[in-house]
Amino acid sequence: MTDLPSRRLLLVHAHPDDESINNGATMARYAAEGAHVTLVTCTLGERGEVIPPELAHLTGAALGQHRRRELAAAMAELGVQDFRLLGGAGRYSDSGMMGLPDNDDPACFWQADVDEAAAHLAEVIREVRPQVLVTYDDHGGYGHPDHIQAHRVAMRAAELSAKTGWTIPKVYWNRVPRPVVEESFARLREDLPGTPFSKAAEVDDVPGVVPEERITAVVDGTAHAAAKAAAMRAHATQITVAEPYFVLSNELAQPILTTEYYELVRGERGPGARETDLFAGIEETS
Ligand SMILES: [Zn+2]
Repeated sequence: MTDLPSRRLLLVHAHPDDESINNGATMARYAAEGAHVTLVTCTLGERGEVIPPELAHLTGAALGQHRRRELAAAMAELGVQDFRLLGGAGRYSDSGMMGLPDNDDPACFWQADVDEAAAHLAEVIREVRPQVLVTYDDHGGYGHPDHIQAHRVAMRAAELSAKTGWTIPKVYWNRVPRPVVEESFARLREDLPGTPFSKAAEVDDVPGVVPEERITAVVDGTAHAAAKAAAMRAHATQITVAEPYFVLSNELAQPILTTEYYELVRGERGPGARETDLFAGIEETS
């Protein structure tokens, strides 16, 4: 690929739906601005719990195929055309929640060889040459084995590609500042009687909550709030949306954050106290 746009963003996620929940507004914004947005999803989420009763019969590979279609629909909502599955569809399967016997399945992502999985991703990096990589922290945001593994594979792939042709200038982890989450949950608890949901989640149920000072970049996606909600809604087996709130299969309401937050962990921070653009400080060259 030689004719890529000058700004290129790569996101690495564990399951279809994680990208829309964590980065939907960011993805929609950069796609709308003409940046090249690439999503690499590591598994098809074959072990996810299905919310709609009429789809409850979907399990395993059939659920994976269904979620692949949900992912495509979500990407259409966000305006993202380049979305891929790590190593090709079905290469790595969902590992299930931490501690379950599913974690021992040799086909699952948790059992994957990190170097081998990272080699697949490094190939994508060499092709797309992203200036910005977004993934989870080393705890995977909330401890799901596939999220932890996605973190390891993304960080290793960045190292591998640096040795073989492309150094990604900036690497970010998904974060949310505790005060923002606390405030939005306070609002949620007040609003709850007017929503279809009966119970709120806890602040610590939100992946990646950190003290405010850890946040280095704030991406205002307010203008793309509708696209984010629509993308989340496209993942109907996993998410029920009633804007500005949503629930997962645990039925605990959470706010949809349309401003998204990041911590820069590799590379140089752009000017200003806090970046408002993930590409800040990047020279727009090949
Ligand atoms: Zn996930």
